[in-house]
Amino acid sequence: MTKLTEVFGSNVFNDSLMRERLPKATYKALKKTIDDGLPLDPTVAEIVANAMKDWAIEKGATHFTHWFQPLTGITAEKHDSFISPTADGRVVLEFSGKELIKGEPDASSFPSGGIRSTFEARGYTAWDCTSPAFLKDGSLCIPTAFCSYTGEALDKKTPLLRSMEALSKQAMRVLKVLGNTTSKRVITTVGPEQEYFLVDKKVHDQRKDLIYTGRTLFGAMPPKGQEMEDHYFGVLKERVSEYMKEVDEELWKLGVAAKTKHNEVAPAQHELAPVFTSTNIATDHNQLTMEIMKKVALRHDLVCLLHEKPFAGINGSGKHNNWSMATDDGQNLLEPGKTPHDNAQFLIFLTAVVKAVDDYSDLLRVSAANPGNDHRLGANEAPPAIISIFLGEQLQDILDQIENGGANSSKSAKDLKIGVTTLPPLPKDATDRNRTSPFAFTGNKFEFRMVPSSASIASPNYTLNAIVAEVLSNIADRLEGAKDVTTEVQIILAEIVKENKKIIYNGNGYSEGWITEAEKRGLPNIKTTVESIKALISEKNLLVMEKHGVLSRVEMHSRYEISLENYSKSINIEALTTVEIAKRQILPAVIKFTTSLATSINAINSTGVATDISTQTELLIEVSALAASLKKNTTILEASIEKALEFESDTYELAAFYRFDVFEKMAILRKDADKLETLVDKEFWPFPTYGDLLFYV
Ligand code: ADP
Ligand code: MG
Repeated sequence: MTKLTEVFGSNVFNDSLMRERLPKATYKALKKTIDDGLPLDPTVAEIVANAMKDWAIEKGATHFTHWFQPLTGITAEKHDSFISPTADGRVVLEFSGKELIKGEPDASSFPSGGIRSTFEARGYTAWDCTSPAFLKDGSLCIPTAFCSYTGEALDKKTPLLRSMEALSKQAMRVLKVLGNTTSKRVITTVGPEQEYFLVDKKVHDQRKDLIYTGRTLFGAMPPKGQEMEDHYFGVLKERVSEYMKEVDEELWKLGVAAKTKHNEVAPAQHELAPVFTSTNIATDHNQLTMEIMKKVALRHDLVCLLHEKPFAGINGSGKHNNWSMATDDGQNLLEPGKTPHDNAQFLIFLTAVVKAVDDYSDLLRVSAANPGNDHRLGANEAPPAIISIFLGEQLQDILDQIENGGANSSKSAKDLKIGVTTLPPLPKDATDRNRTSPFAFTGNKFEFRMVPSSASIASPNYTLNAIVAEVLSNIADRLEGAKDVTTEVQIILAEIVKENKKIIYNGNGYSEGWITEAEKRGLPNIKTTVESIKALISEKNLLVMEKHGVLSRVEMHSRYEISLENYSKSINIEALTTVEIAKRQILPAVIKFTTSLATSINAINSTGVATDISTQTELLIEVSALAASLKKNTTILEASIEKALEFESDTYELAAFYRFDVFEKMAILRKDADKLETLVDKEFWPFPTYGDLLFYV
């Protein structure tokens, strides 16, 4: 086996390769663009393109592609080969600076939310040199931003890059007033923990719901679920372990620092987390991670399910978005240090996040909304749909002191005594964890836990960056104008604590009590994706995105439209699949089963032997009644789908109809089917059950 240190990044045109392969001046100029955000010199691009091409060809590549992230949420690529025919019938291999910098994919089939009419099909991709190019399947992939002919962002990367600049600018203003003279930039960092399910491909392929929608639309609970808590951190099964090894290896080649892997709470559920990096690169890497996870699964006759709720009745999947801010010279701005109470800089950045989350909780909520996540948020497993912040005992105590006139002490953590002399004393964390909080401070970063497992992490991160930039900019305005910065800091801290403490909740986020308490505090409890999408076009939110140049009004409106359309389309597919399975698989199977019961009853009767056939008779009656109900509810669902298709009002009304009419009717129908599954002979049931899917890998 090749050494891990050699495998890591072997398919990435990374910094060390650039240093090695580029002329010194070119390397320096490129670094200035990457590190300091200076505009890119076209002559530099020409040289870089050439070096990239040579490297890619040496590694066996034949094509290049601009790799981008349209608003479908997945990545897009269109491959061009390096060949250029010559007059004498041969080819030379070419890749110009122009081709590196700019691409012109036909954008007409990507969602634009009304920004672009179909005749203006042109879209542009632009090289993002802050995320390194990499090799995948024989193609040199160049991370790019994607925009329309008129310059509007049509992707997830552009607002993310803009938000990083916005946050850096405002954070630097604050740092400067507080006396920092060394840092040049502030970078937002993220480490996303990716949850997923693995199921056997042969079993998977017998279920139309998994094939079409990524989740089960039917399925009764097996005798065993997750109640034994025996899967979490359990020993990895060999097949799963082999899969994980290969995923790690593929990711390492791509420079993704895959770090942890383990079994999760639900049966067949697992998690992978990388070492954190800048929000831009981490977002690219998470897209690659999801792609590799799916691809490698197939090699092992497995299917990797990234859906937020593949199975009812057991936990769904999320993506814990660990987020922080760091200076270019290596200082984590959310590191409390030993005595956070007198760390003014830490307290300012901490409270800025608290205020941002409180002021814009609706925007943060929609950043984590998708159709799949509606099954998680608020459903007693994942964080509730109410956004609140967990700070823990130590920071809570400091904020209480600030509110009461000033902080003088930090509760410190002592050693943990385990009571066994041979075990070393463990330094205790200042605060215990809280698993139920949607937005938890975890030592030196915040963990946003609402993020959906299948979605890009771009929008939660550009939202966080934008709203924190807004609060920091207001703080900077005040500090820059203050006579005495120290006093002003104290005033600001006290103000934020008073005004925004309602968002802080250190208790159990899953409890009923919290829902009533949150309501009293006036915190929004936005239960559905459809309702959450409204936040994208509220005036307050349009203003903040516009002010910091993250998304314009037009771009926000386009995202509003696309999110609603996406919701309606997803539910439409689910509803059609539900009808198809009910009509063409479940009902026919149930009819066969009832026929076999009837045949059995007749056969026994015809023997003339007086015997008790009440079991068959009662079962026949019960199953037939449920079948009739299933049939009736299928007709009702079909009518609802029909009605949706005839809808002529706006996208919001349509999405709301899908949520509150179509979706509800799917759930009613499912109840009959799941009950039938528990009554009908397994031989007759038309597809594998939850038990088959969850326990046999
Ligand atoms: P948990 O115990 O929460 O499951 P994991 O080790 O699975 O922890 O994941 C924690 C994640 O947080 C990792 O991806 C880690 O790199 C990331 N992380 C740590 N420090 C920071 C930071 N300063 N900024 C962003 N992410 C961070
Ligand atoms: Mg984890």
